[in-house]
Amino acid sequence: MASVELKGLSKHYGAAVAVDDVSLRVEHGQLVCLLGPSGCGKTTTLRLIAGFIEPSSGEIEVGGKVLSSSSRTVPPEGRKMSMIFQSYALWPHMTVAENVAYGLKIRKLDRAIIESKLKAILSTARLEALAERYPGELSGGQQQRVSLARALVVEPETLLLDEPLSNLDANLREEMRFEIRRLHDRYRYTTVYVTHDQAEAMTTADLIAVMNKGRVEQLGPPEEIYGRPRSEFVARFIGGSNVLGATALDESRVSVAGAVLRTTGRKLVAGRPVAVSVRQHEIGLGLQSPSSEAENRLRGVVTRQVFLGATRDYTVTLDDGTELRVTAPPGQNITPGQSVWLHLPAEQCRALAEE
Ligand code: ADP
Ligand code: MG
Repeated sequence: MASVELKGLSKHYGAAVAVDDVSLRVEHGQLVCLLGPSGCGKTTTLRLIAGFIEPSSGEIEVGGKVLSSSSRTVPPEGRKMSMIFQSYALWPHMTVAENVAYGLKIRKLDRAIIESKLKAILSTARLEALAERYPGELSGGQQQRVSLARALVVEPETLLLDEPLSNLDANLREEMRFEIRRLHDRYRYTTVYVTHDQAEAMTTADLIAVMNKGRVEQLGPPEEIYGRPRSEFVARFIGGSNVLGATALDESRVSVAGAVLRTTGRKLVAGRPVAVSVRQHEIGLGLQSPSSEAENRLRGVVTRQVFLGATRDYTVTLDDGTELRVTAPPGQNITPGQSVWLHLPAEQCRALAEE
């Protein structure tokens, strides 16, 4: 079984730390996404797993066997892994079928076996009709499917993908996310998928590891990462959250811009600064006060409004200058300059961990 486990993995380049004490376990057959901004250490982590580079400290185990440590590293060809790069690196002088079959040919498999494996993967990747074409005669999405087929035909235990969709246009990218997930469900290899795109991670992953400055900041299923971001970084990176700087009044209430918010998430200590996240679409917006209750409502002025068809995107500025983004239904049109009330439901005001 090809579970992949990273134990206290670090990689230094001189004084710079590219990967910093990363521990992570991917069960056999799971797809984990390493998600984070450019430079946070995603590619370095993937290259460590593939065996292209050696860790400065820590270990990588696959199926319970140590493949990498600072004293011993099994080379890439000794690992049952396939890696797909951002550029598909197809051989231009070979047809689709030759590109895909190459990995089987160098393994010197029987001709009939190569033929049957090739046929099966071309069918799964929906490439049968393109088998005799050359890469130069294919669209970006088709080339990407060829590179997936080529990686999968050798039946790797582990599949490593580094931003595999970043060269595709938006529509195709969306379609290919489902394609990658479909192929994963079909073959059930263990997959580590690197991306900086939140939606890509949400669509494909069983587990998301949000990375920041070489570390895993939060690890969990997509629903949990989205619904319960633990830090300010995760709340901001997993789009759509406002993060408000507040001061705790007691265990569950904070003061922000002259108002009182009841919060959820963790017990607070009176007097301490606390960051509170609330999503744009969970904030109510109206000309009238949302309730007679004084808590969880804020007064502000609309400073910007954009009509997006299905929604309206508002920026509301509070008395102290704090700006909040609010996604509201399209029906009500409140123009910039008007005073509004915001309702921030207590169960949506998440008190984040102190950083
Ligand atoms: P990501 O893939 O998340 O964009 P990388 O893993 O490529 O990030 O890089 C993480 C950090 O390590 C960056 O600051 C990068 O400049 C640095 N880094 C990566 N590879 C090297 C290298 N070979 N030599 C020096 N620094 C490197
Ligand atoms: Mg990278």
